[in-house]
Amino acid sequence: MMNKLLSLLLVLALGLTMVACNAAPSSNQSAASAATTGKYTPGAYEGTAKGYGGDLKVTVTLGDNQIEKIEVAENKETAGVGSVAIEKLPTAIIANQSLAVDAVAGATVTSKGLLEAVTAALVSAGVDINTLQAPVEKSAVEKRAETVEADVVVIGAGGAGMVAALEAKAAGKNVVIIEKMAMAGGNTVKATGGMNAAATSVQKELKVEDSVKTFIDDTMEGGHNINNLELVTALAERSAGAIDWLASIGAPLPELTISGGATNKRTHRPEGGSAVGSYLVEKFVQNIEKNEIPVYYNTKATELVLSDGAVTGVKAEGEEADYLFTGKAIIMATGGFGANEEMYTKYKPELKGFVTTNAPGATGDGIIMAEAVGAQLVDIDQIQIHPTVHQATSIMLTEGLRGDGAILVNQSGERFINELKTRDVVSAAEIAQEGGYAYVIFDQGLCDRVKAAAGYVEKGLAVQGDTVEALAEQMKVPSETLSATLKSWNKAVADKKDEAFGRDTGMEYDLSKGPFYAVQIAPGVHHTMGGLKIDVDTHVIGASGEPIPGLFAAGEVTGGIHGGNRLGGNAVADIVIFGRQAGQSAAAYCDK
Ligand code: FAD
Repeated sequence: MMNKLLSLLLVLALGLTMVACNAAPSSNQSAASAATTGKYTPGAYEGTAKGYGGDLKVTVTLGDNQIEKIEVAENKETAGVGSVAIEKLPTAIIANQSLAVDAVAGATVTSKGLLEAVTAALVSAGVDINTLQAPVEKSAVEKRAETVEADVVVIGAGGAGMVAALEAKAAGKNVVIIEKMAMAGGNTVKATGGMNAAATSVQKELKVEDSVKTFIDDTMEGGHNINNLELVTALAERSAGAIDWLASIGAPLPELTISGGATNKRTHRPEGGSAVGSYLVEKFVQNIEKNEIPVYYNTKATELVLSDGAVTGVKAEGEEADYLFTGKAIIMATGGFGANEEMYTKYKPELKGFVTTNAPGATGDGIIMAEAVGAQLVDIDQIQIHPTVHQATSIMLTEGLRGDGAILVNQSGERFINELKTRDVVSAAEIAQEGGYAYVIFDQGLCDRVKAAAGYVEKGLAVQGDTVEALAEQMKVPSETLSATLKSWNKAVADKKDEAFGRDTGMEYDLSKGPFYAVQIAPGVHHTMGGLKIDVDTHVIGASGEPIPGLFAAGEVTGGIHGGNRLGGNAVADIVIFGRQAGQSAAAYCDK
């Protein structure tokens, strides 16, 4: 499907490239083109197209008869996602001398941009790209069968899986990770806002008062009190230690912001307000490599293996082998099912047609595999929609943006809600507005403080104006109303009192420094709160109410922590805290 899409795009690109993709021959072309004897005019050619993080610029070097080199200029693609496409696709194009190469799963926007940029460069070189559409031969070699033995087998190289693997390894166990995508990261790499934790060394340093009790109360209230209190208590009590542990592995989160539903500033994030997910995934991968933990990429776990009632292995399909991974303990860390429309509409039919913010690997495989060996599910129909999703790209604007001072307005240019209410409440208010959408409004001051905000502008998601009136014109909202809304919001910030909607957090900075920005957003499927039932030690609980021997789980694959609505920042807390616990519990189980 993706191949067909890319082929279609490339054919379209043939017609449009010179106009749309800004292709240009580079300076050394004319010198090199003098003596053409082959099918190409040798030389270096440049092409540009839109990637995920902005423009992607490539230089393609042609010999007489072949594409010799593809260089990608400095870019803003996501580390660990787009960067994998940048590493793999040029090699594949050169090896096959074809543009009909597979997009890298999980990095399709970067893959598409890269192929368009290469196409643009080739078109500028006068190459008929129809001659470069030969299907790439897949080797017909039969897959071998392979058994891999370990103490602990972790399924899923997202945040929870990598953290669990690091802890099991630190406890002296032989660990392997299975990951179905070409890269680590899952939904974790997409996390932007931060990680919640209370009574931490960072809060003490920044003189923010908070307590484990308030963290528990906020989480229970946000989750409509259907959360498992024991799990929530463990989350809150272990959170400060998790922040220190992250610092100890080279991943400090020294800044604070606030997320919806939180009483205090407890959302910890990297320096400069960078996105938390790509930062953590990069650090986790570095630690996984440093600790020589093997990761089997492009390897999909399909079935858990039981012996005498205990889980002792997992079957998996790799590109070149069918595997049986055996272990004394298996950790399920496959994430949620927010990218599996069939599965989430089974539990919540009204979500049909919603966009999703999730990574493509979030298809609920772990829930299905564990259910097959008797695991209990909890809160499986509790699925969160996030209120600020840019619909055309499915990019979610972090709640931290509102925590740092952004507001929401409707098509009349008016605020309509306390923007830092919980996600379910804000989403419902948005759906009730004309057209079912709204705008996130922020200013240059916020862009200067928060890298993620500047990133949305760079990605081309925002319309902008040097003045509020100019912004209103771009948004096609009544200028007088928008100006009045901003004026009264700025007064509320100055007075520390929001008469209109009672907002009392995220009010440290007003919106007064132009240019001003607006991103049109609406809700999208975001988090699957339900999943495998676990206890505080991450044992997966079976139908009898007892742990299933040998099976542990952590992260979005589990249920009970977030109840009926997850608070922003609590999922990263979940994966670090319960990921650590799963690694430690699995290691201890191996010693029994
Ligand atoms: P994932 O990170 O999704 O990892 C699961 C891994 O398992 C994936 O790599 C997947 O490919 C792999 N896998 C799945 N099935 C198989 C299989 N059969 N075989 C092998 N591998 C498999 N939370 C916060 O607290 N703060 C935030 O700021 C925040 N921002 C977010 C922004 C976005 C856009 C999204 C989508 C989520 C955000 N979240 C945030 C939620 C949070 O990121 C996730 O809930 C959390 O990272 C999930 O981590 P995980 O390790 O459980 O799963």
